[in-house]
Amino acid sequence: MRVPDEVRADIPLTSKVVYFDNAATSLTPRHVVEAVTRYYMEYRGNVHRGVHSLSEEASRAFSEARENVADFINASSEEVIFVANTTEALNRVALGMAFHAGDIVVSTELEHHSNFLPFFRLQDRDVTLKIMEASPPGILEEEELGKIEGAHLVTCSIISNAVGTVLPVQKIGAVARKEGALFCVDAAQAAGHVPLDVEKLGCDFLAFSGHKGPMGPTGIGVLFMRKSVQDQMDPCFLGGGAVRDVSLTGYDLADAPYGFEPGTPNIAGAIGLGAAVEYIQEIGFSEIQRQEALLTRLTLDGLSEIPEVTWYGSQEMETHAGVVSFTMEGMNPHDVASILDTQGIMVRSGHHCALPIMKKLHVPGTVRASYHCYNTAQEVEQMVDVVKEIARTLAG
Ligand code: PMP
Repeated sequence: MRVPDEVRADIPLTSKVVYFDNAATSLTPRHVVEAVTRYYMEYRGNVHRGVHSLSEEASRAFSEARENVADFINASSEEVIFVANTTEALNRVALGMAFHAGDIVVSTELEHHSNFLPFFRLQDRDVTLKIMEASPPGILEEEELGKIEGAHLVTCSIISNAVGTVLPVQKIGAVARKEGALFCVDAAQAAGHVPLDVEKLGCDFLAFSGHKGPMGPTGIGVLFMRKSVQDQMDPCFLGGGAVRDVSLTGYDLADAPYGFEPGTPNIAGAIGLGAAVEYIQEIGFSEIQRQEALLTRLTLDGLSEIPEVTWYGSQEMETHAGVVSFTMEGMNPHDVASILDTQGIMVRSGHHCALPIMKKLHVPGTVRASYHCYNTAQEVEQMVDVVKEIARTLAG
């Protein structure tokens, strides 16, 4: 498959707009829409609840989707728990772990609120939260990893959605393991953009949403939970489908993943996600990464020519993902985004649900262009030209 032409041909919206808001949600290829439609039109039934043929077919497709996702992150299918999104997955880690007063949780200043607030709230249970701070322009210096000492849980993202920095997640995981801490990874901005391997990461938990990099449907996400920690985790929710036995005096929880998935799951979403990760693997990560690195370099080079622009995140290309966050002197980020919108260019503006890092950078928000493999160099040039024009108008 040639990237980006063939992927663009598969996503009609790419010919109508310049879509640079992939960190918020990506566009959906036909392959995914068709998989979801097939479920609704041809074999709609509930899963694991009946012996009739529609239920059996739906159950089979649902299980296949789980296997696809497991393969996508190099896990076993019993370790893949379907949830609504990254936010739910991270909340389940915070709520499901058996913390004691005085336990230490370590996170970073670069996190999205979804990987900060669920752990921040643990302080109500006398858990101590330590933060590895970021240095301007939004990077994590290695000295900060010393804060992991004595931790029970370390949680961090692979890629910052706010400034595009790639965190030293491998090193963080190694220090966490040395300290005997469990390790949780927020892969919301990494999934679908870089290969994910829970063995290489050495993580106990990994969270991502189907609707971002994987190009899957909304409302479906994944919580990888390593087999060795499953017994220690509270499932948070109870109900149908998650138990082996129930009597008036007690209940016996089903093995993972079912014990962690009470209620009717998002069947169509899971099937769509299964098709989406298959599609991503077909494109191949080397192609995806090559295209996104090209677009990122072009953007950073282009923006660097404009004196009114400041961009954030790692200054090194190897640790700058396809998320470019910038401000323009004298301009509100929302106004810049609105002007870009009038030219058919969709970017995000604001604090990106990452207020701690915005505060560290002393900005109320930024303009953020975030890429996927279907974006093109010509689109980037178009955006940079509009930003140059805004700068000229400002100067004039
Ligand atoms: N973590 C990161 C790094 C993110 O970028 C996002 C979404 N912007 C989330 C968590 C939350 O994802 P969701 O809204 O799909 O739950």
